[in-house]
Amino acid sequence: MAASELVARLRRDGPHLSIGILTADLMLLGAELALLEHAGAEIVHTDVMDGVFCPGLTLGAPIVKAQRTTLLKDAHLMVMAPEDKVEAFVAAGADIIAIHPEGTRHPHRALQVLAKAVNANDPERGIIRGISINPGTPVEVITPLLDEVEFVQILAVNPGWGGQAFIASTETRLAHARELIAASGREILLGVDGGVTRANIAQIAGLGVDLIVTGSAVFDGKAAAENAAFMLDAVRTAAGRA
Ligand code: ZN
Repeated sequence: MAASELVARLRRDGPHLSIGILTADLMLLGAELALLEHAGAEIVHTDVMDGVFCPGLTLGAPIVKAQRTTLLKDAHLMVMAPEDKVEAFVAAGADIIAIHPEGTRHPHRALQVLAKAVNANDPERGIIRGISINPGTPVEVITPLLDEVEFVQILAVNPGWGGQAFIASTETRLAHARELIAASGREILLGVDGGVTRANIAQIAGLGVDLIVTGSAVFDGKAAAENAAFMLDAVRTAAGRA
């Protein structure tokens, strides 16, 4: 089942925020998700790092499964050999699963595995299959994979640790990816992940992207509800939904 209806809707009324949960208080996961739901968020983002693909080591499919929420679950797999791991995230209820082509000789096969997957939350909804690329990876890498994805995500920082600044060349890379997506003629979401802050969210929301990942800008510090409202307002304003 393709996720075409959901993709079309997210493209039509974006940009949308996908909020990283790993900087939240994970001992209060339910309350932190409720905070996002009450703020009007739609998507929760989980950064999965295996300590091999990138220096960070985080959490895997169990933390996605533990998220009892009405939000769409977005799993960003910064792992080696994602073709062996995507099914665990499908079973955990991920709605969006992005793999890194740098982590496998077989990105196409990993995406084909996902094409057969059934969304555990709602079989009608489908799974949004994504590819995510590091700042040092040529954007053209996405071209042979565009027939097998509904989502392309450009990393604006190097994966593995927090607190990095948004890399300036990301803007050019997003424009290039947008051209390649347009040339494919397919309905594909464009996203950006990393270095998104209160200070630059309005500018990034104006870059013609559909999904914007933000994590620490919401959950670092004590004012998560206020931060979430601020970030969501910025994307709603850019989308004309304010
Ligand atoms: Zn991410």
